[in-house]
Amino acid sequence: MKIQDVHFLKSCSVPSQFPRYSYPEFAFLGRSNVGKSSLINMLMKKKDLVKTGSRPGVTVNFFVLNDAISIADLPGFGYAKVPLEMKKAFLPLIKKYIATRSNLRLAFLLIDIRRTPDDYEVEILSLLSQREIPAAITLTKCDKLSRSRRDQRIRQISETLGISRDSLFTSSAKSGDGRREILRLIGEYSAPAATDAD
Ligand code: GDP
Repeated sequence: MKIQDVHFLKSCSVPSQFPRYSYPEFAFLGRSNVGKSSLINMLMKKKDLVKTGSRPGVTVNFFVLNDAISIADLPGFGYAKVPLEMKKAFLPLIKKYIATRSNLRLAFLLIDIRRTPDDYEVEILSLLSQREIPAAITLTKCDKLSRSRRDQRIRQISETLGISRDSLFTSSAKSGDGRREILRLIGEYSAPAATDAD
């Protein structure tokens, strides 16, 4: 899939503000500092579409791609420096998002390749599976590890999550690794669903 145009649509702090269009939607989720903003910028080949390294707000940010696809950047969970009250606000918004977006086709769950997933990732995967929304586990910052260490981490993370190694892939905002794979998935999952008549 080629990026012709991408623009920021809106930033929503409550579900009633979520856009009502029917574009197929793709969500990006992960802990704060996982490299989510850098990855979205790398995918879209835009330097500052999403601000990196910034203090996060509890918002879902929506972008429109090629006038046909919706991209939702979910709030980064667990940012160390935000007040406890703000930390508590993350999960309900994410839960509400997953529970209510009828056009959500695929969620990219980002995990730093050097980290071991824990309750947060398990909970997100469980919420997605309850709604039968497929998840693509994206192991970020893979440039930080050698090839053999990457393979080791892929094996360990797939075992921790109880997920096949084929459902995990690596990315790097620095080297551009994973870009083709992610855009291919967006293209594939945004295609109209085949009907019996096809
Ligand atoms: P976010 O909080 O998930 O949006 O994370 P950011 O995109 O702001 O990145 C957090 C930090 O990780 C920044 O210092 C980035 O420069 C760094 N970073 C993000 N992606 C990569 C990557 O693929 N490789 C490396 N080496 N550093 C990265």
